[in-house]
Amino acid sequence: MTRPDDRGLILMPDISGYTAFVHAAHPEHAQAVVSTLLEALLQAEQLGLELRDIEGDALFSYRAGAVPACERIMDQVTRWNEAFHEARRRYQPSEGCRCGACGQLESLSLKVVAHYGRVRVQKIGPLHKLFGADVILAHRLLKNSLPLHSYFLFTGALAERCGRGVTTRFGCVRHEEDYPVFGPTMLNVIRLPNTAGGAVDPDVVRAAGHG
Ligand SMILES: [Zn+2]
Repeated sequence: MTRPDDRGLILMPDISGYTAFVHAAHPEHAQAVVSTLLEALLQAEQLGLELRDIEGDALFSYRAGAVPACERIMDQVTRWNEAFHEARRRYQPSEGCRCGACGQLESLSLKVVAHYGRVRVQKIGPLHKLFGADVILAHRLLKNSLPLHSYFLFTGALAERCGRGVTTRFGCVRHEEDYPVFGPTMLNVIRLPNTAGGAVDPDVVRAAGHG
């Protein structure tokens, strides 16, 4: 359980392509697709993460205390990606409908962002919300200049907590973003396969000019 002032791991799986998708879709059909996909992500959770919020097309999950081994984090990200694509493939769109949701399921992919830092818990009405600069930075990661749809993006702060293993063993590529207030921020990116069961391929990230 999260204490009032704590350090921990923030992991956010987020559906890429969601905004354009919803814009062109029957609202009920888009909602049904997104609910199915987010449900699949929740069921694929295996790290003991607390679900703190559902933010449109993203899950905001948190785990207080020491960071799990980098292999376990990568396993979780891989598991999420596979569960996402499995659910997307199995989804049965409304018969005959070609709206933006039913006709463009394949345009959706998964990205996951992660950060390790300090959070504060603030009770507001019935909710216990997480606050702090590190919570803001984690959310900023969702907006970035990567020319990719399907990837795991995480901060140097998390890489440090995981030890060197995470960047050497999983073929991370360094990437810098300049965020307002935070300034230049060194990040690590691992490309995820855009279908279930594929292998992580860092060369594609390098080929895209982020090596
Ligand atoms: Zn539809």
